[in-house]
Formats: sequence, C-alpha cells, structure tokens
Amino acid sequence: DLSHKVILYLEDISVSFDGFKALNNLSLTIDAGELRAIIGPNGAGKTTMMDVITGKTRPDSGKAFFGQTLDLTRMNEPEIAHAGIGRKFQKPTIFENHSVFENLELAMKTDKRVWKSLFAQLSGEERDRVSDTLKRIRLQTEADRPAGLLSHGQKQWLEIGMLLMQEPRLLLLDEPVAGMTDEETERTAELFVSLAGQHSLVVVEHDMSFVEALGGQVTVLHEGSVLAEGSLAKVQADPRVIEVYLGR
Ligand code: ADP
Repeated sequence: DLSHKVILYLEDISVSFDGFKALNNLSLTIDAGELRAIIGPNGAGKTTMMDVITGKTRPDSGKAFFGQTLDLTRMNEPEIAHAGIGRKFQKPTIFENHSVFENLELAMKTDKRVWKSLFAQLSGEERDRVSDTLKRIRLQTEADRPAGLLSHGQKQWLEIGMLLMQEPRLLLLDEPVAGMTDEETERTAELFVSLAGQHSLVVVEHDMSFVEALGGQVTVLHEGSVLAEGSLAKVQADPRVIEVYLGR
C-alpha cells in the first residue's frame, strides 16, 4: 500500500545489459515535496535508474509508480514527461540565439497542456509566470540577452527554468552543479531548497558540499541497489559506504 504522500515508488527494479545487472532489485521511495540526493560511485546505476523513471529504459522486472496510480513501466517517454516528470541532463538544451525570456516563453508554449501557437501573444498571466520564473532562477536582469551569452551556471538555471515552465511534479537532475563556480553552486542549492515542497526533486550528484547544502535525505547506490539511506552525516559514517568509496 502506497501512502498518499508518496510521489515515486520503485520496488525491486532490475535492468540487465547483456547479462550485466546495471540495476539489481533497486527499491526507492520518494515522498511528495522531498529533495533527495542520489550518490554512488561510477557505474552504480544512477543514470540507469533515471532512465527507468523517465521511460527511456524498460526494467526487466520490478514495479515503478508515479503518484498513486501511474505505472511507469507501462508508459512511454512522452507520456511520462506529460504526466509531470521533468528531467535535466548535464548538457543544457537552450536556444542560444533567443533571449532568456523567449526561452522560457517557448518552454511554456511547447508544453502539451498549453498547446499555444509559437506566434501567439502571451496573456498577462502568462507573462507573470515567465517573470516569476526569471526571478526564481535569478535571471531577471538577463531577460533580454541572448541565452548563448549567459555563463555556464546561468545556462543551467535557464534550463531548470524551462523545465519549471512545464510545472513538473517531479524533477530529475543529473549533476546540476558540474562546472559551476562555488557561488553558483550555493545559489543552486538555495534554488532547489526553495523548489522542494511545491515540487519533488531527485538530484544525482558527486559534489558532497552541494549535497550537504541540499540538506535532505541521501540515497547511496552501489552495484545497482541501495547501499545506505539517511542524512549525509549518517551515510558518510556507514562503514559499508566508506568501503565502497575508499576501500579499493
Ligand atoms: P552511473 O550513472 O551510476 O555511473 P550507470 O547507470 O550509467 O551508472 O551504469 C551502470 C552500469 O551499467 C555500468 O557498469 C554501465 O557500464 C552499464 N551500462 C549502462 N548503460 C548501458 C548500456 N546501454 N549497455 C551496456 N551497459 C550499460
């Protein structure tokens, strides 16, 4: 039985590639409004887990539910995106020759639920939504600049803003602060903390000071399943986690 608070429920998910188990009976529960960090050494299965959640990879076995009723193992990628799971990859996919404002506008207009012509004027309410998002991602002063002129960190924020225009319930982020300055990393942590509650976030990350700034529960993956779970301090003190990171 799923609690009404659960937004994502994975149970005993397994995925094999040519007989190699990338995920091995992985179980994970994310509560609505949670900000969860996923850590683990290279090859632990983090990307494969994200691929299962977004429908890019179909598991060999196991259960995957979004909210109470949506069986992710029976949905394709567009259906899952439409249902409210947004994913940010490491490489931003922004329109470099368009302004920051236009990038957010395009993201809103291409949302299937809005289905607005790309040439249609925005309503006052829609302009407000873009402005609110600009403020949230700290790009108000950059609104009219071509997105290609933004810093690396600002481009990452813009892409997060574009995801937010589609109002996802669950956001999946793959190493969002890779390549960012320390200050950008801090601001990104603040942004994610402010998004939690209204959204649920699952963040795959290697930067432990960033994970600490997020302040939420941490899941450690190893060899395709969950090795440890809890606060960062707790998992970092777990001898099994220490062995996986340092023991070979
Ligand atoms: P992580 O993101 O934690 O580094 P991955 O999910 O990318 O881990 O990979 C887990 C394991 O599965 C790795 O050993 C990787 O080589 C393997 N793997 C991932 N995708 C494929 C694939 N498409 N074909 C074969 N092996 C894969």
